[in-house]
Amino acid sequence: PVALFWYRRDLRLNDNAGLYHALRSGFPVLPVFIFDQTILDALDDKHDRRLEFIHNAVLEMQREFREIGTSLLVRYGKPLDVYRDLLKEFDIQAVYTNYDYEVYAKDRDKAVTDLLSENGAEFHAYKDQTIFDRDEILTGSGSPYTVFTPYSRNWHHKLTDFYLKSYPTKKYYANFLKTAALPIPTLEELGFKPVNEPFPGKTVRAFLLDHYKETRDFPALKGTSELSIHLRFGTISIRELARKAKEHNFTFLNELVWRDFYFQVLDHFPHVEKHSFRREYDRIPWRNHEDEFQRWCEGRTGYPIVDAGMRQLNEIGWMHNRVRMITASFLCKHLLIDWRWGEAYFAKKLRDYDLSANNGGWQWAAGSGTDAAPYFRVFNPTLQAQKFDPKGEYIRRWVPEFNSLDYVEPMVEHTMARNRAIESYKKGLAAA
Ligand code: FAD
Repeated sequence: PVALFWYRRDLRLNDNAGLYHALRSGFPVLPVFIFDQTILDALDDKHDRRLEFIHNAVLEMQREFREIGTSLLVRYGKPLDVYRDLLKEFDIQAVYTNYDYEVYAKDRDKAVTDLLSENGAEFHAYKDQTIFDRDEILTGSGSPYTVFTPYSRNWHHKLTDFYLKSYPTKKYYANFLKTAALPIPTLEELGFKPVNEPFPGKTVRAFLLDHYKETRDFPALKGTSELSIHLRFGTISIRELARKAKEHNFTFLNELVWRDFYFQVLDHFPHVEKHSFRREYDRIPWRNHEDEFQRWCEGRTGYPIVDAGMRQLNEIGWMHNRVRMITASFLCKHLLIDWRWGEAYFAKKLRDYDLSANNGGWQWAAGSGTDAAPYFRVFNPTLQAQKFDPKGEYIRRWVPEFNSLDYVEPMVEHTMARNRAIESYKKGLAAA
């Protein structure tokens, strides 16, 4: 008899809630990772940074597992099919894992739970990727929060050391199933090609923690942690990071609260995946011009801060948060293109793509989300650039032709676009 520990977005041995519980289950534990065919099939660019990152993380974990005499079992396929096979190959008593709040993942887990139950095996999932989840932070009347500030206040109020304690998996390493090394498919065998990109390290720079508040809004500086991909795939523990943040920097800790917040929005309001959080915003008469969308994607709008952001995204798969807000706002308001188009483009390109944060960020920019700024507030990309990139360093890094004759004219005039956006929003909301 064995217990499986199913890795998903928690690719580490240390301080892993579900793994900790598996190791204390009384059964020898076999760790499992599935390259999900459904997800991989949907990726049309076969040079995928995220897949390369995951593959590297899997190899790294395998090195650690070999040192303790066990092995990661890696499969490729649709999870339910993989579990049908595993049930034939092993005497599985239980599967341990960590919660995932996306609709696809919840449906997948429900199907796997049912299959296991038909076969007399249990399914146990734990909170691991957030500090608080589900119903842990609710309003006084017991409903989920839909506005960040009171959520955050309650979050900080509830935070005690208990929630930041790490799970000491190491103490229980003897409980892994002893086995020879099991094979791991190469990227090529999975149908992908290496990007060969160095990823940002996992260390939290002391400088960052001390100066985050002052540096975080300036995209020319290395003023944010760039830990997003590690948080996305769990190669760093949220509890470890939050502990450091709590000791050093409230502003940084509060960004982690945003992360929890958007997870709970997705968990409680799954309609946001396809619709505006505020339903009436689904009525905005978007212009949705394909050629304009293309110019935005390529970073050829003639607004240098927008173009710098889009080119940074296209080249390295990451964009500074301030510029994510500016580019997103430009697409929704200046071009009147449905936020879902922009969301999908970011989803394809961002190495830290996370449905909850991406959807939250886009709905915020469109004004349709939880913390919607009034729709008549429209970012002025020129003023944003003056304020947050005053010397134009960030712009010149990504738009080398800026200030030369080669640079394109602005594709739309700001005041006209602003008024047009306000009128369209007004019309859409009046119709609702
Ligand atoms: P830091 O400033 O160092 O922040 C530390 C961590 O806090 C981040 O790694 C992230 O996990 C979390 N965080 C910070 N800001 C936010 C936020 N607003 N919402 C949720 N979590 C946050 N973040 C993603 O992780 N994935 C996405 O797909 C994503 N899409 C976005 C789309 C738009 C339109 C906008 C406006 C924001 C988006 N964000 C997304 C949030 C934010 O831009 C990134 O988390 C951040 O830029 C990542 O860089 P960093 O690790 O240096 O951040």
